[in-house]
Amino acid sequence: MSTPDRSSSRSAISRINARWPWLKLYLVLFVGLVAILDLLDLTISKTGEPLNRIRVAPMSRHVRATERVLANKKLVVLTFDDGPSAATTPRLLDILREKDVPATFFVLGNMARNNPDIIKRAKNEGHEVASHTMYHQNLIRISANAAKSDINEAKTVIGGILGSAPRFTRPPYGNYNGVVASSVGTPMILWSVDTLDWKSRNVDAVIETAMAEVHDGAIILMHDVYDTTVDAVPRLIDTLRQAGYEFASLEEIVKLRNINLVNGEAYYGFRP
Ligand SMILES: [Zn+2]
Repeated sequence: MSTPDRSSSRSAISRINARWPWLKLYLVLFVGLVAILDLLDLTISKTGEPLNRIRVAPMSRHVRATERVLANKKLVVLTFDDGPSAATTPRLLDILREKDVPATFFVLGNMARNNPDIIKRAKNEGHEVASHTMYHQNLIRISANAAKSDINEAKTVIGGILGSAPRFTRPPYGNYNGVVASSVGTPMILWSVDTLDWKSRNVDAVIETAMAEVHDGAIILMHDVYDTTVDAVPRLIDTLRQAGYEFASLEEIVKLRNINLVNGEAYYGFRP
């Protein structure tokens, strides 16, 4: 006969033993949950971007810094044509760096050849440097061979300076035909908001025109060869931000809006 104490103790042990399978199950579930949380913490960055994607395809410092900022925002793309100009483009680059805004420069091959360091700086500071052809000819008014030659010379010159061929083309005046489309070998990026900065040469007019026409996914056309345009840019950036817009590079907006760009196709904007 057991003493009441021993009986009670044995009974307690057998009760615990009877519950072991459940305790083991709880333990397994708990360890599993901790492991899953740990795994999530390890594979998802603070921005929600899986780290393995960042490791596989490292993005520029700017792209990574702005990912958080761009989510669920109205977006615009700033584009500057006809440069680079030693007189105006470096000041614009200073402003864009100060405001942390990416832009796309559609440069002319013959301007780039004279100012290679400026487009190298633009690329190094996270901007897209793309082709606006070699000599700004109206490609639909010249022979097919002349158009192809102009397009290819620009690619060679710009690619030679930057070490990689331009990924986007903007035909002068936005004019293209079948020959141009089949020769560019890149997507053609046109615009949806024309600031007419070349015409007004007026800071207020540039900002008013841009704000009157802007929309989510807009591609804004300006020219970095005018002092008035460069003067307008900081105020335009502030005004757009006050209106809830953020600034995306072409690469960023295309990714965020799940667009598969096709070589030879023309794009006028990236509405959601
Ligand atoms: Zn132009």
